[in-house]
Amino acid sequence: MATNRKSYFHYKEGELFSEEVALGQVAEEVGTPLYLYSYNSLIEGYREVSHAFRKLSPLICYSLKANGNLTLCRILATEGAGADIVSGGELYKALQAGFPPQKIVFAGPGKNEEEIEYALRENIFIFNVESEGELKLIENLSQRLNHPARISLRINPDVDAKTHRYITTGKKENKFGLDFDEAEKLYSQIKKSPLLEPVGIHFHLGSQITSLQPYLGALEKILDFLEPLKEKGLNLKYINMGGGFGISYEEGKLPLNIKDLAEKIYSLIKKTGAKLILEPGRFLVGPAGVLITQVLYKKNRGKKRFIIVDAGMNDLIRPSLYGAYHQIKKLKEPHEAYPPEVVDIVGPVCESGDFFARERKLPPITEGEYLTIMDTGAYCFSMSFTYNARPRPAEVLVKKNHWWIIRERETYEDLVEEESVPEELFFSFKDPSLSFKSRSLREKKALLAPIPFTKMQGSGNDFIVIDNRSHLIKNRPEFARRVCPRKTGIGADGVLLLEKSRVADFKMRIFNPDGSEPGMCGNGARCIARFAHLKKMVGEKCSFETLSGKIFSQVKKDGVCIRMKDPSPPHLNLEINLGDGSYTGHFLDTGVPHFVLFVPQVEKIDLPEMGSRIRYHRKFQPGGTNVDFAEIKDETVRMRTYERGVEAETLSCGTGAVATAIAANLVYTLSSPVKIKTLGGDLKVYFHKSGPHKFTEVFLEGEAEVVYEGKWEGEVS
Ligand code: PLP
Repeated sequence: MATNRKSYFHYKEGELFSEEVALGQVAEEVGTPLYLYSYNSLIEGYREVSHAFRKLSPLICYSLKANGNLTLCRILATEGAGADIVSGGELYKALQAGFPPQKIVFAGPGKNEEEIEYALRENIFIFNVESEGELKLIENLSQRLNHPARISLRINPDVDAKTHRYITTGKKENKFGLDFDEAEKLYSQIKKSPLLEPVGIHFHLGSQITSLQPYLGALEKILDFLEPLKEKGLNLKYINMGGGFGISYEEGKLPLNIKDLAEKIYSLIKKTGAKLILEPGRFLVGPAGVLITQVLYKKNRGKKRFIIVDAGMNDLIRPSLYGAYHQIKKLKEPHEAYPPEVVDIVGPVCESGDFFARERKLPPITEGEYLTIMDTGAYCFSMSFTYNARPRPAEVLVKKNHWWIIRERETYEDLVEEESVPEELFFSFKDPSLSFKSRSLREKKALLAPIPFTKMQGSGNDFIVIDNRSHLIKNRPEFARRVCPRKTGIGADGVLLLEKSRVADFKMRIFNPDGSEPGMCGNGARCIARFAHLKKMVGEKCSFETLSGKIFSQVKKDGVCIRMKDPSPPHLNLEINLGDGSYTGHFLDTGVPHFVLFVPQVEKIDLPEMGSRIRYHRKFQPGGTNVDFAEIKDETVRMRTYERGVEAETLSCGTGAVATAIAANLVYTLSSPVKIKTLGGDLKVYFHKSGPHKFTEVFLEGEAEVVYEGKWEGEVS
């Protein structure tokens, strides 16, 4: 017979306690609604599973989705549990909580590239793979990172778990897992792959399963499938039976008898020689938690009696979503002398689906008293949300006679923290106070926090380089306008922001001093590659995204070499009239547009004047162009550039150097590598001429170095 787990919530002298703490006292101090968890209930849940299956000494990976609170996770990690995760966010939380990566397994039918890469970099234990596409992506990313991946295939064994249809996951009409035929094919592919290691097999049938039959039925199918695989030389080391162990929500209804389950599967698993992995969630935390709420009002409509409480479906959605049953208890022990009433316990949310109990017989309830919604440790806080702009409840942990707030109640400010209001939309109001008020709290904090930056230079082009992966800077153009001026800011030709990318190691965003954003900058690209390498975000070789496409780079001792985008076919001998005469140059796009003019003596050119007139010439509108003046002497090109956006001469320009080298090849037959001297330093441009006007494999090499590091304490928008 299965027994109900000992409850850590009991009446003592007429009051509901958890361990040795009176819940009413916590409710008074912290306010309601409030989630409260019992430390010893949680520990006991874990130990019950570990004891029941002890003969198989399984790896028990706690399923974080049940409740990802860091303290609860840390308690389980300390007990020796691993973690079952389904997203990058859960991986982050699992690592924060202290689960070792070698005990983390990653399931889920829709893992994206960023999440897989994150998990590979953290070297997690096993990917529970759910589709062929996912397997391919893991393989590609493992190759890119040169990092092996351990794989279990998640099988959908087509077994009915006899639970609510929303939480059934092992039937063939569910989106989860692979069928046996697909799995067989994929195992042979994995076996051939140099970086993928086939280590196990996984299934998870659903949640709140209370009978053994689904597990035994699925296991039988899995073992039948493993036999021929073994003969083919595939000896899988792990069998992961997932989670799903049901608990008792209703008096008289029994939880899954895990002792029986453990006994029944013992010899089956033992025979395979594989190690068992389990992924319980609900069983560990469900009975350990309660939701405490206060009664706001009572009202009757005809025969209906409503008890309106201060918790809503946004705090606890299980009754609304699944029609789930939770016991409801008064904090004050009810007097048997009073006859029960039939009531609906409902929340304040503006939805008729906002209820916790319907037509429930409960002892008489009065306005202002506290109620406890039982067994709400799992899939309650983790499924909570802020509908009706209701801040989420606080969470408290009780251990013996101590208690701690382990998550503060959200505030109204938290509700708007992630939002921002584009100020440009409200210019017409001309009310300066409005723009400040409309900023989110996080932005207001960011206004005051110093921003670390690295000042770098590449061939005399100087940049302010910032790691912006956590969005320190939101209004990028405005930031560039503030920090680039040499008298009132830090001073630079541009700002380089290193941001997250889904398709490369990182993304480079570059902003000119006027706030405009060019697609690419060769010198900037070299600087950001050096920066990412110095900050240990990448190795010597890396790839990064720019608005003009993906760039590959290699950091060397005395410089950085970057592969540039193949240039557009050049428009040679393009004549433009500037009023005082006509000029012939060569126009091409090397990530950004350049107009190259070969001149006899480059130092004699009045560059600010000529450059700006050409830059704005109608032939290059609406975008304008950069302008390069070049002189060829002894197979070497001397060049000066007027940069669009900087609106002045810069000491050097990488994309300009590439444009000039290509033009020099076409007009003066200079061959690769073309040596270029700029005011800021020397560059080399390598290319392969694959057609009369077609250039591929274009590389730009030159120095890129740190000038100094600092913190920007000025205002940030
Ligand atoms: N493992 C996987 C893959 C899951 O999707 C889930 C939840 O649905 C679990 C484990 C945990 O299930 P439970 O909380 O019912 O034990």
